[in-house]
Amino acid sequence: MLLCLGAVEAADAGQDICRDAPVAVQVLGSGGPFPRDGRASSSYLVWIDGRARLLVDAGGGAFVRFGEAGARIEDLSLLAISHFHPDHVSDVPALLWVSQLFRTAPLPFVGPSANDAFPAVDTFLDRLFGDGSGAFPILSGTVGGGNSGVALDVTTVDATRGDPAIVFDTAELRVTAQGVPHANVPSLAYRAEVGDASVVFSSDQTGADPGFVEFARDATVLVMHFAVAEATDGPLHARPSIVGQIARDAGVDTLVLSHLSGLDPAHPRYGDFSLADQAANVSIVREAFDGNLVLAGDLLCLPIE
Ligand SMILES: [Zn+2]
Ligand SMILES: [Zn+2]
Repeated sequence: MLLCLGAVEAADAGQDICRDAPVAVQVLGSGGPFPRDGRASSSYLVWIDGRARLLVDAGGGAFVRFGEAGARIEDLSLLAISHFHPDHVSDVPALLWVSQLFRTAPLPFVGPSANDAFPAVDTFLDRLFGDGSGAFPILSGTVGGGNSGVALDVTTVDATRGDPAIVFDTAELRVTAQGVPHANVPSLAYRAEVGDASVVFSSDQTGADPGFVEFARDATVLVMHFAVAEATDGPLHARPSIVGQIARDAGVDTLVLSHLSGLDPAHPRYGDFSLADQAANVSIVREAFDGNLVLAGDLLCLPIE
């Protein structure tokens, strides 16, 4: 059992480990929507041969962590967004600002389809960066306009689909996506395959769809969001017992608990979240899953091969 608790130590160690490993996964943001514990919101990298190739999510703080990690926009093969809650996507404009200075090749960008409450990824980007009505028309180069920003090559994935969609496929890296249940929010899990290594990013989800167990089957690393306490049975997040059961049933080697969430003890909802009694919540995961267990910290790097 491996249990990593120190975000600061992980930050110091993470950079060289990720650059030196053939394949590595790095946590840029191990938190969720609350500005607590020095954690950035959700964001992850997959490193291949010393370069950060895949960025999954870019919540608040990801911009800073991306630079601290030594990642470069010109090295990215794909930027994948799980869903449009701000703790997963709010730093996208910061990451793309003046990106045309660093790369000319279009940047593949993937995200979910729309429903009545949320835009599809192409609409989301047009509303942010469009020449006419965007909030940041200065970045219209990202969506085919004449201003700043590297062009984005956008792929929309139907978030209602229950089987994997191939969203990126080269000799070096293969990425698939599949819809997961997260209240009324179109939400995508991603699976990255590099040689024999596989890393699955759960996105925010309840864990109620058994199809996700198949999606995560035999993954080398499963990064699963661990937001709520066991007594919290809402429509947004998987309880610790469900997180443990999914990791066990999928047969993953290493489970990384991330999207760690906590409030001030004086807050009336303090007890609802995973950090309120972290040890008890982690032990509930451990009851089901006996593989490697890692508690995420910002900049934590896990070499895979
Ligand atoms: Zn979230
Ligand atoms: Zn969410």
